[in-house]
Amino acid sequence: MPTLLGPDASKLRITLNPHPVALPNPTDLQFGKHVTDHTLQIPWSATHGWHTPRITPYQPLTLDPTASVFHYGFECFEGMKAYKDASGALRLFRPEINIARLNTSAARVSLPTFDEEQMLALLAKFVEIEGRWIPNIRGYSLYLRPVIIGTNPGLSVSPPTSALLYVVASPVGSYFQSQSQTLSPSGTSAPAGIVLQATPSARYVRAWPGGSGAHKVGANYAPCMVAEQEAKSQGAHQALWLFGDEEEITEAGTMNLFLVLKLEDGERELVTPPLDGMILPGVTRDCVLGLARERLPGWVVSERRITMGELEGAAERGMVEEVFGTGTAAVVTSVGRIRWKGRVIRCGNETSLAMQMRKWIEARQYGEDEHEWSVLVETLVQAPLGDKHQGEAEVELEARL
Ligand SMILES: *Cc1c(COP(=O)(O)O)cnc(C)c1O
Repeated sequence: MPTLLGPDASKLRITLNPHPVALPNPTDLQFGKHVTDHTLQIPWSATHGWHTPRITPYQPLTLDPTASVFHYGFECFEGMKAYKDASGALRLFRPEINIARLNTSAARVSLPTFDEEQMLALLAKFVEIEGRWIPNIRGYSLYLRPVIIGTNPGLSVSPPTSALLYVVASPVGSYFQSQSQTLSPSGTSAPAGIVLQATPSARYVRAWPGGSGAHKVGANYAPCMVAEQEAKSQGAHQALWLFGDEEEITEAGTMNLFLVLKLEDGERELVTPPLDGMILPGVTRDCVLGLARERLPGWVVSERRITMGELEGAAERGMVEEVFGTGTAAVVTSVGRIRWKGRVIRCGNETSLAMQMRKWIEARQYGEDEHEWSVLVETLVQAPLGDKHQGEAEVELEARL
């Protein structure tokens, strides 16, 4: 699909919310419960490309009931976070990866792609406006949810001729705070870890070769919920997704999965499935791999296939030290047990690598370990902005962001 260049960040128009709400108590924050005062919205049409970007007060969308997002799943999204460092400065963590991934997701479902640098500048401005929502307490952040939807009316099954990119933000504490009794309130996994239930691959498959599993498209998630609910109704926390006759391990819930195996020579192997088109290329996954290669001398770091049979065999020989999942929401989540075909595989008692990785990653996210992965929002916004007041609340930005 031909995509016109844009959006143009210098055209951003900002209408500040005249009624900003009182900030919630930090202890009351749950994942996705509260939203901030504004959204960033950028409409697109096949005839004009990306239209004027706008930051406006948060409000419901109005869409035609035949809009293509409602019928054929023309939707993709991202999940990323903004942080406040000890000096109060706002930071994004490897945002260019999320922005690029949103583009590849959009392309996979025939939604329009965009200029990544301009999008990042717009996102940074949005974060700056919503910065007050991040409590000045370590562990808190602002979850950012960019979305692209097909908005064209009409019931024909064809690539969208109009679309809307919008961003909502939600202040968050620790993901598992309210989700699981096995995890302590500080969000660090108790040594027990969560229980995964391997999903019977004859009945439920999350992703397959040539499918869309490597992309964050909404259509991947709704069909997974029956298996997740089945796992939960049987006392597990999340589903473990397998693929194929050999029951390859792929992902757990919406996390990438890592295993720590003891090798015959006493060394360790860190294993995660390869990016073969069935695995979501997680930012956190990439961080864990990068940190392992950088900071774990002697370890074998493998992106390779691993089957349930190999895992069970290794567990029986006492060679599985640790299993953990990774994702932006919870960073690292220890796995204690995996249920498979009526059996229980114990995933070792160690949680040391999971905890170490969480510490290393968070130190970079909060700017304590100053590193190129963490980007100061102010450097993306390229202030000073020449604000020109128009009427009551509308501010037109003249300077390029
Ligand atoms: C978002 C997501 C992940 C984790 O990706 P991060 O970039 O680390 O947040 C893993 N698996 C699935 C299916 C996901 O949707």
